[in-house]
Amino acid sequence: MRQDPDCIFCRIVAGQVPCTELLSDDVALSFLDIAPLAQGHALLIPKEHYQTIDQMPPELAAAVLKHLPALAAAVQKATGCEGFNILQNNARVAHQFVPHVHFHLIPRSAGDEFHFNWPAGMYPAGRMERLAQAIRKNLP
Ligand code: 5GP
Ligand code: ZN
Repeated sequence: MRQDPDCIFCRIVAGQVPCTELLSDDVALSFLDIAPLAQGHALLIPKEHYQTIDQMPPELAAAVLKHLPALAAAVQKATGCEGFNILQNNARVAHQFVPHVHFHLIPRSAGDEFHFNWPAGMYPAGRMERLAQAIRKNLP
């Protein structure tokens, strides 16, 4: 299994650093974030070390992601939150500070302190279809 001895999440998987565990199976681990954006902020990770999600084998991604519905329902029931965000940051430019793939499950409630800046834009004529073609060409 790919592990990085310098990675904090690999050290959690190896039992060298404690965590407040929510679930664990052969390939996935979930635990509470140590610095929560809201009470119940959970992380779901593959046990194997991959830096960004595009590097993961799709079968492994599926085996990790299958836990999200039950985990989200359990966090909602336990916290009483009204909604939640699932965030997955890739690379420092996208606010990834721990270089081991992780999904944030962040409980949300009206008036909470977690705000997005969502600067929605527009495509110039023709650009949207050209971009879609380029993306489709690069899909397996
Ligand atoms: P990122 O910005 O990389 O997407 O988020 C990394 C998350 O990991 C942060 O929310 C941070 O609080 C959490 N985190 C970092 N180190 C630890 C740790 O040792 N234990 C736990 N439980 N969470 C951690
Ligand atoms: Zn790691």
